[in-house]
Amino acid sequence: MAKIDFPEEVKLLIAHLKRLPGVGPKSAERIAVWLIGKDGDFSNDLAKAMMLSAEMIQACEVCGFFESSGIGCRLCADTQRDAAVICVVEQPTDVLPLERTGAFKGGYHCLGGRIAPLDDITPEDLRIASLVERIADGCVSEVILGVGSDVEGEATANYLSDLLAGKFPDLEITRLAQGLPAGGGLDNADELTLYRALDGRRRL
Ligand SMILES: [Zn+2]
Repeated sequence: MAKIDFPEEVKLLIAHLKRLPGVGPKSAERIAVWLIGKDGDFSNDLAKAMMLSAEMIQACEVCGFFESSGIGCRLCADTQRDAAVICVVEQPTDVLPLERTGAFKGGYHCLGGRIAPLDDITPEDLRIASLVERIADGCVSEVILGVGSDVEGEATANYLSDLLAGKFPDLEITRLAQGLPAGGGLDNADELTLYRALDGRRRL
């Protein structure tokens, strides 16, 4: 007796869904079955949105943020921004929470990741050469390292700091402050957070 499984079309859909980040085999099956249960319009709209994004969106050659074909990069086109300050972040998605604060008016540079030897990600895999080029070409006076505070983020910040300080002695290199979360008391903070909060204290 033949072993019964999903039809081939559904197996193909599950195989594709499994390749999405954060989607395991069980979730892929669940999504596939959910999609089959939806009307054709939904699948059509989803497929169109995916095709449109894939065709129209790419990384801006200068800053690495999302750029729409025909429209260009809205960050680089914004002449109101302070070209003297660049905030370096890991991913283009990191720009959005910083923008929502409304506190930063400079430019950005998205590295496309961070140095992670265990995942085979070396400095050459990141958009570091274009950052150096940008600083060398322009009127950049400060680079803010807005990379993560975990081990790989620290390694990336240290690498960039050494590299940029060596190449541009007059460049101010800063790091986003790390410390206590807003609204949190000391009793809830872990040791590393407290250590960094003490280390990064500022005069009032
Ligand atoms: Zn750009």
